[in-house]
Amino acid sequence: MTMRYELLVPKILEGAAVRFPKKEIVTRVGEGTHRYTYADMFARTTRLGNALRELGVGVGDRVGTFAWNNYRHLEAYFAPSIIGAAVHTINIRLAQDDMAYIINHAGDKALLIDPDLAPLIEAIADRLPNVQHYVIMGEPDEVTTTLPGAVSYETLLAAASPEYQPQYVDEYDTMGLCYTSATTGMPKAVAYSHRAVYLHSMAAAMTDMFELSERDKVMAVVPMFHANCWGLPFVTTLVGAGQVFPGVRPDPRIICELIEQEGVTLSGGVPTIWIGVLDYLNRSGVEYDLSSLKRLVSGGSAVPLAILQAYRDRLGVEIIHAYGMTEAAPLISVNRRRSWLDSMSPQEQLELCAKQGTVAPGVETKLVDENGEEAEWDGQQRGELWFRGPWIAGEYVDDERSDETFVDGWYHTGDIASIDPDGYIQIVDRVKDMVKSGGEWISSVDLESAIMAHPEVLEAAVIAVPHPQWQERPLACVVQRSESTAQLTKETILEFIEPNFARWWLPDDVVFIDEIPKTSVGKFDKKVLRERFESHV
Ligand code: AMP
Repeated sequence: MTMRYELLVPKILEGAAVRFPKKEIVTRVGEGTHRYTYADMFARTTRLGNALRELGVGVGDRVGTFAWNNYRHLEAYFAPSIIGAAVHTINIRLAQDDMAYIINHAGDKALLIDPDLAPLIEAIADRLPNVQHYVIMGEPDEVTTTLPGAVSYETLLAAASPEYQPQYVDEYDTMGLCYTSATTGMPKAVAYSHRAVYLHSMAAAMTDMFELSERDKVMAVVPMFHANCWGLPFVTTLVGAGQVFPGVRPDPRIICELIEQEGVTLSGGVPTIWIGVLDYLNRSGVEYDLSSLKRLVSGGSAVPLAILQAYRDRLGVEIIHAYGMTEAAPLISVNRRRSWLDSMSPQEQLELCAKQGTVAPGVETKLVDENGEEAEWDGQQRGELWFRGPWIAGEYVDDERSDETFVDGWYHTGDIASIDPDGYIQIVDRVKDMVKSGGEWISSVDLESAIMAHPEVLEAAVIAVPHPQWQERPLACVVQRSESTAQLTKETILEFIEPNFARWWLPDDVVFIDEIPKTSVGKFDKKVLRERFESHV
């Protein structure tokens, strides 16, 4: 028999302190940087754990974080798990009602808040009866808030014991909590066990996934409150890679500067981030040396082919497409080329990169059609993706909506896809974003990707609008590049995409808008567009 050994998140932290004490963690602060090592991070995280314990936080309690991507947030990712509590990463861009709902639903006992974000919590503080402690993540002079009893993070750490006294719990106990960025109804809570995060980290590091090692420098642009930050803080600490945090309000300039200055080898963010970076490079004309970047991970929504192409051909950077969700901690699949596909032409390789990749080892997949039958993996047949595996949620926390999504041990994603014979997933659409025209389905994702290939187009979103005869018809909402002087019209757009689609797929109309509204995690917000153009026909 092998020894029984619990897979606990504090073990990831302990390992980093012993194996990689000198490795550096860098955070952008103002126009400069804060730098320290894993040894420092371990010491401070130990103190934070002890400080939280002193405040009365213990096994089973929840600690909310309300912060940008920075080193204190990294400490807060790990400290609750040392004392058997759980970290709850709160989305700083939620509406007030949603924010109050999730803080109360999670039962957060303490909130750790970045100084500049405190006013957002002040506005709802009278609706948070369970919060006993407000901690401002800064020096004492940064505590300028009216939040009751607010203390500075650094004051707490200075007064806390430096002794590492972990409270180990069961590997199936909760170490973290993240809410979905629900587009209908209130956000739903997903709880991550220690074991799930540990195994997810091991899988994410694998060569056929993010291919991470101690030699890497990882910069998560994806917010630390979005879907567990794609697991990046955990996997990076596990393998001892360097970490780079972009700090307050990262913009394309900051992202490019950090990649160049720090020699970032892997960065991750939603496609709108990479669209924005490319646009900034085009407009500013500033040349950055981005050659350190070996992997640029894009996930959260489909990455348009034109973006993959622009990064490959103009910047020499390969975008790696990843797919997942809050419910899966979040990685399901990463797009790496299988050895037997190496002989593909450059164009075929590009088209392969636009797919969502093959599932991680350990994740089981079903593709289920409208009749409840399993669809063939032939790259044609479509179905809903179902998953199960060691890091996939089995339910939403205290939520009666669980039964619709978690059925007989399978997580039903609501994502419609095909899978090719090599196992590559191609997301067609979310069920609720598909356009149902005369009983047939049209993929908004395919249309958007084709429109965004137009050189004068910055962004495009396709939505369903109600139609008296066809039930729904596609409407394209297009943003023209700010520097473009061309006269873009409905006709030019439709002519451009016409060769790729059957006639009845083509949008009935094309509207030109200043900006595609974004969700709190930076995806195209089609709900807002649907409301705006409800009576467009
Ligand atoms: P969230 O939990 O907010 O990250 O949302 C997860 C959902 O985003 C998934 O169920 C998909 O609908 C969508 N999604 C995530 N990654 C991708 C991707 N690479 N391509 C297309 N859709 C994606």
